[in-house]
Amino acid sequence: VNDLFGDALLRVVPLGGLGHIGGNMMVYETADDLIVVDAGVLFPTSEQFGVDYVIPDVSYILERKHKLRAYVITHGHEDHTGALPFILPQLPADIYVTPFTELLVRNKLRDMPAMLDRIVTMHDREKFTLGDFTLDPLAVTHSIPDAVALAIDTPAGMVLHTGDFKIDPDPVDGRCTDIEGLRAYGDRGIALLCSDSTNSEKSGHTWGEREVEQTLNKLVRNAKGRVFVTTFASHIDRIQAVLDAAAHAGRHVIPVGRSMQRAIDMSLTHGFIDASRDLLADQRDFDQFAPQELVVLASGTQGEERSAMTRLSQGQLDPVVVEKGDMVIMSSRRIPGNELAIGHVVNSLFRLGAEVIGDHDARVHSSGHGFNEEQLEMITLCRPKFFVPLHGELRHMIRHAALAVEGGVEPEHAMVVEDGQPLVLRKVKGELLMQREQRVEAGVVFVDGKGVGDVGQAVLRDRRFLSEAGMIVGVGVFSGEGRLISPIQLASRGLVYIDENQPLMQKAAKEVTNALERLSIPAGLAERTEAVRLTLRRFFKRELDRRPLVVPVILDLPHCCCD
Ligand SMILES: [Zn+2]
Repeated sequence: VNDLFGDALLRVVPLGGLGHIGGNMMVYETADDLIVVDAGVLFPTSEQFGVDYVIPDVSYILERKHKLRAYVITHGHEDHTGALPFILPQLPADIYVTPFTELLVRNKLRDMPAMLDRIVTMHDREKFTLGDFTLDPLAVTHSIPDAVALAIDTPAGMVLHTGDFKIDPDPVDGRCTDIEGLRAYGDRGIALLCSDSTNSEKSGHTWGEREVEQTLNKLVRNAKGRVFVTTFASHIDRIQAVLDAAAHAGRHVIPVGRSMQRAIDMSLTHGFIDASRDLLADQRDFDQFAPQELVVLASGTQGEERSAMTRLSQGQLDPVVVEKGDMVIMSSRRIPGNELAIGHVVNSLFRLGAEVIGDHDARVHSSGHGFNEEQLEMITLCRPKFFVPLHGELRHMIRHAALAVEGGVEPEHAMVVEDGQPLVLRKVKGELLMQREQRVEAGVVFVDGKGVGDVGQAVLRDRRFLSEAGMIVGVGVFSGEGRLISPIQLASRGLVYIDENQPLMQKAAKEVTNALERLSIPAGLAERTEAVRLTLRRFFKRELDRRPLVVPVILDLPHCCCD
């Protein structure tokens, strides 16, 4: 690859998270060096049948593999770390993480020993250099411990990449957004601010985690029966708040669900949670406690099929049960797309007689992403020359860019770009310019089981047909001379129940047989395959108004067997 860097000082290439939520990945590149900030997954939509994960297309980095210096991860959420196991085998490099992120990433890469050796711990305000870049991680508050913004010193000047952030002045773990650090960089001059756009449609300021803590305290204190709480297993501050509320109310806490149990155990071991081990009880001892002695902390905030909360709602988490008089607190947000599944769980909990409290009822959740006031505060602290909104759909990014203009950025310097649209910073006659460049290859790659990238649009289209109308296989056996030697055989799945539809299937087989017999002999394989496909397609469209996936199978027997 000829990079044609010319007089460019820095190229900024978004490969994920700009134009859609999730799968975050940003490349910062000079003539000699390239770093990748975050490597996240997206979760598949319901149309992406059978796809486990969606990851960013990293072709751009693969073409510049020799320049890759490291991955720098802003925090441990899946949409910032989840692509690592799939990308590292083709693009191995050092992985810079803060201590809590390190715990999660080590667990994620536990089956990749060579990669574990490449994990490097970074700490707040401890600078490190990667080729042309010197990075300074600055603490930010978010919904997971140890999130950082990155101040990146580049040949084009200072770039401030916020990662996900909110500005909570009184976080439960006491680690505040580093306002002083941000201001100091702002005073020295920031060329480019890339900032989290998630909540740019929300005016005002997020409420603090302390307010959530107080709400939880009050609910647990006043509850008569058991209290069940569900939150994200990575939301350690929230878990701490639940443990504290239980301790104040003299209740024990039973964690249920593997991810919740692991998060609590890991956080206690490494000092990210402050609680007495005696506060915790095992799920097997559920029956030994009276209802007013218990808080159950369950994973599964999104109605996931096999999660602890879903199983609880179905009475399938023996011996832990939800009964009349119990309270269930949904201390989490509903991720768009999951509303139906969550609604199903909530209905089932009501059916069991529980009182269900969500964020519509009380402040039992606070977003990890700043609202407008916090976004504006970031802009005015940094006072950047250029602004690029990150982490959002187009509508979020456009609103965020408008906010940056309100915050003092020149309108033409606030640039909204989507994945695959590089920006280049260069100096012309002493003035720094930021310009769009020709688009590069970007997009998404599907992961299904052990396959990375082997499921593409064609496979998904087949899966969609299969799900909508099933499939039909038509088998034709031909002699060496190209003569059909027996009537066509049909087999179907998910189309019609074949036993009860013998006349229909016989009619279909007859039409295909006729179509094949009409072909001139000898007919090519493609011609016969197409005849089977078209005839079956037209037949089922006409007879049933359905479009099953048609699989023609043509077998040519060698001469010796049929003469
Ligand atoms: Zn996050």
